[in-house]
Amino acid sequence: MGEPAWRGRQLAEAIYHQHFTEISKITTLSKSLRQKLAAEGWQVGRPEIVQTFQSADGTERSLVQGGDGLTVETVWMPEGDDGETGDEDDMDNPESLGTPSSRLPSGAKAGLHAPQPASIHSQGPRPEGRHQRATLCVSSQVGCAINCAFCLTARLGFQRDLSAGEIAGQVVALLDRHDVEVGRDRVNLVFMGMGEPFLNYDNFMAAVRLLVREVGLSAQRMTVSTSGIVPGIERFAQELAEFRPRLAISLNAPNDALRDELMPINRKWPIAAVVDAVRRVQLRPHERITFEYVLLGGVNDRVEDASQIARLLRKTGLPVKVNLITWNPGPGIDYSLPQPEAVEAFRQTLVNAEIPAYVRKSRGRDIYAACGQLKRTVDITPKQLPPCVCRSR
Ligand code: SAH
Repeated sequence: MGEPAWRGRQLAEAIYHQHFTEISKITTLSKSLRQKLAAEGWQVGRPEIVQTFQSADGTERSLVQGGDGLTVETVWMPEGDDGETGDEDDMDNPESLGTPSSRLPSGAKAGLHAPQPASIHSQGPRPEGRHQRATLCVSSQVGCAINCAFCLTARLGFQRDLSAGEIAGQVVALLDRHDVEVGRDRVNLVFMGMGEPFLNYDNFMAAVRLLVREVGLSAQRMTVSTSGIVPGIERFAQELAEFRPRLAISLNAPNDALRDELMPINRKWPIAAVVDAVRRVQLRPHERITFEYVLLGGVNDRVEDASQIARLLRKTGLPVKVNLITWNPGPGIDYSLPQPEAVEAFRQTLVNAEIPAYVRKSRGRDIYAACGQLKRTVDITPKQLPPCVCRSR
C-alpha cells in the first residue's frame, strides 16, 4: 500500500496486543489510512470459532472461520498426544514455552461470538498454580493437493491457501478459548492439520513469526510436518533459529517403490532428495528430525519394513526419531488397521536398531478429530467446509 514498514508493527500491536476488532478504532493509524484500509475491504480481529466438538478423551475440535466464511479445523489436545516424547529438550519447564508471561486479555473474547458449549472447561477448573499442557494442531490450507492414498483430506482436493492471519488466528482463538497464559502454560503447536504447509510457505512462515513476536510462543515448541516438498525444506533451512519450528517428515514407506504408491509426491521428490534437503537444516543442540510413519495393516507394517527404515535413517547420519501413527480409517479408503502386535514389533525393531521410536496416542477418534478422519465430518455436517486432517492421536 506504499506505507512504511513500521505501520505493519502498529497494526500488529493493535491486533495482537490491544485486540482491536475494528479498523476505525485503531487511532495509532491516521484517519485517512483507516478510511483507505476500510475502503479496500480490510478487516481486523480474530477468526471466529463457529462450532466445537468434544471428544470423550478431552480432545476438542473447533471449526474456525475466516473472513470469507470458509472454515478450517483446529484441534486442541489436552496433555498432548505424546508426539513430542523423545524430544531431548522437552523439559517440563513452563518458562521454556516462550517469552515471559503475556496473558491474553479477557477482552479478547469479544471477538468470539460463536455459541460456546457448556463443556468448554470439561476438565474442570484448573487448580491454583497448576499450568496447562496441551498440543494444538493447526491447519495451513483448506483441502490438500498432495493426494496421499491413505488420507481423507486428499479426497477434498485443494481449495485454497490460508493467509498468515488465518493460520496464526487459529492459534490465538484457541489459546484465548482455553485461557492459556503464555509463559505459564505449556502449549505445543503442530502444523499438521489440513494442508501442506510447505506449499503455502510464505504465509506459514509469516504466521510463525507472528506467533513468536506477537503472541510470545517459542518456535522450539512448534513442529511443522511436510510430505517432503524439497524447495520448501531448502527455504526452511535458511530460516533463523528463532523463527524455525522443529521439522517432521511424513515418510510412511521404507523405500521409493512403496512411497511412490502411497504418496505420489515421492515421484517428484524421492526419499534421497528429501533427506538431502533435510541435511541442510542447522539443528539446535539436542534437536532431532522426526520421521512420521503411518502404519497400514499388511502394507508397510512388517518387521522387514522397520529394518529397512532403520538402515535408511542410520545411513543419513542425522539425529532422528520416528513417530509411528496407526492408520485412522475412513470411508472409501481401502486399507486396514495394523495389528497391535505388529505395531509393537515394528517399534521394537527400530528401537533395537537404536532408532528412537514412539507410538502416538490416538486422540479424538469419536469426533473424527483423529488424523485422516476429519473429512467424514463434512459428510455429517454438509454445510461446513472441509475440516483439517489433523494428527491428533
Ligand atoms: N501435509 C503434511 C501435514 C498434514 S498430514 C504432511 O504430509 O506431513 C499430517 C500427518 O498425518 C502426516 O504424517 C500424514 O502422513 C498423516 N496422516 C494422514 N492421513 C492419515 C490417516 N488416515 N491416519 C493416520 N495418519 C494419517
